[in-house]
Amino acid sequence: MILDGKTLAKERELALKEEVGTLKEKYNKVPVLATILVGDDPASVTYVRMKENACARVGIESIHVGLEASISEEELVNKIKELNDDENVDGILLQHPIPKHIDESRCFDSIGVNKDVDGVNTASFGAFSHGKEAFKSATPLGIMTLLEHYNVELEGKYAVVVGRSAILGKPVSMLLLNKNATVTIAHSKTKNLPELLKQADIVVACVGKPEFIKKEWLKEGVVIVDAGYNPGNVGDVSKDAYEIASAYTPVPGGVGPMTINMLLTQTVASFRKKMEK
Ligand code: NAP
Repeated sequence: MILDGKTLAKERELALKEEVGTLKEKYNKVPVLATILVGDDPASVTYVRMKENACARVGIESIHVGLEASISEEELVNKIKELNDDENVDGILLQHPIPKHIDESRCFDSIGVNKDVDGVNTASFGAFSHGKEAFKSATPLGIMTLLEHYNVELEGKYAVVVGRSAILGKPVSMLLLNKNATVTIAHSKTKNLPELLKQADIVVACVGKPEFIKKEWLKEGVVIVDAGYNPGNVGDVSKDAYEIASAYTPVPGGVGPMTINMLLTQTVASFRKKMEK
């Protein structure tokens, strides 16, 4: 079975467009997402443009906040606080990575939890890890939505997540745990990765190394979730492993398209919450 994120994201986008239309009729307002881009890194410029285009497709208004790479940490934090205080803004996206002289984690944490629609805030992570209502990290939420859509059973399954980044490996591990999977988080210091993977019913690859996970390391019938996105549209799992998988996310067209969709979904949810207060 192919876990087709591209098709699911398209379907969800149409549904979101309808929802935004209904909300607009009811409130005469639309959700607003502020996108902050610091500097002009070409990949980040492209990602922010893709996110703004997706907003436009569903009728979400985006406010582009372009800042010089030389901006100070204090100025950036103040800008975020200004957006936190702006009643009109429902969500804030701070495009990663930001210049090295700025503490990214502090900036993420200065985004108000009620506007953290990309799920990058430590407080959001704490809340959803404890199973409480909170915005979730976009890519992990996209993975969970995809697995749920295809009815992939998680309860009691053994999942190995390879990678422990704050935006991907760690949060997806918590979400799997909350769905009663038994989870191992592997990383660069893990000693016996092939042995761990051989036991896994579900493998979530978020390593950032092309075709790093080999077919021989996996067991027959495994579910492969490949979040890796390396140059040349190559994932973190060797493509020949699909032959032994019961289900897998293709690269491209699996996890990737779901991420932006989750950002939009959570922006609409934030708007709805504000209006229904
Ligand atoms: P990251 O911050 O670089 O984290 C990579 C993780 O992989 C780290 O935890 C690292 O361990 C671990 N790792 C590195 N070498 C390893 C090894 N030999 N064995 C086991 N673990 C190893 O990357 P990220 O931001 O999480 O992204 C991971 C991948 O997902 C990238 O390809 C990225 O492009 C992709 N991604 C896709 C989306 C999407 O929307 N599709 C979104 C975000 C990221 P240590 O912690 O020990 O260093």
